[in-house]
Amino acid sequence: MPEFIPVLTREEIEKLVAGVARSISDDYKDQELALIGVLKGAFIFLSDLCRHLTVPVTIDFVQASSYGANISSSGNIELIKDVGLDIRGKHVLIVEDIVDTGLTLSYLVRHIRSLGVKTVKICALIDKRERRKTDVCVDYACYVANAGFLVGYGLDYAENFRELPGIFHLQL
Ligand code: 5GP
Repeated sequence: MPEFIPVLTREEIEKLVAGVARSISDDYKDQELALIGVLKGAFIFLSDLCRHLTVPVTIDFVQASSYGANISSSGNIELIKDVGLDIRGKHVLIVEDIVDTGLTLSYLVRHIRSLGVKTVKICALIDKRERRKTDVCVDYACYVANAGFLVGYGLDYAENFRELPGIFHLQL
């Protein structure tokens, strides 16, 4: 039977997200921000984050190939859904659920830069540094984790457990 070890409660996540939203709102004061959420894992995080921001935003999503039923990254990144809005000349904030090896984000940052944006920064719910393979810079992180496979609050294991309100360390 899989075991779910609590990492963050719904209330703890709410406080962490509000804190990061304050920093982002301060940094982008008087500017417009294009939020680009990375599907599917970031959908709950982005929806909470954007409601705490005090700067005007546009919202779009991209989807890159994900882990599927595995828990380790292949490094072969494929864009399944591209940005639909015209983000040329915009300040962009990529909103990601977890940065692990950083391979997905390196790819997405390169891709979004190629669209002619003004700036690109990264906001992650969880910055998991244990297996980082790139020098990708996470500008805003709600929580830093070193080990383990996490589920809940949008994060899945083989498409399950996204609906859990808290975040758990899944032990198979
Ligand atoms: P990276 O390219 O940084 O290795 O992988 C990033 C993607 O892998 C994340 O967007 C997420 O979908 C998935 N991922 C990495 N670590 C975890 C984890 O602990 N739990 C879950 N559910 N997904 C993870």
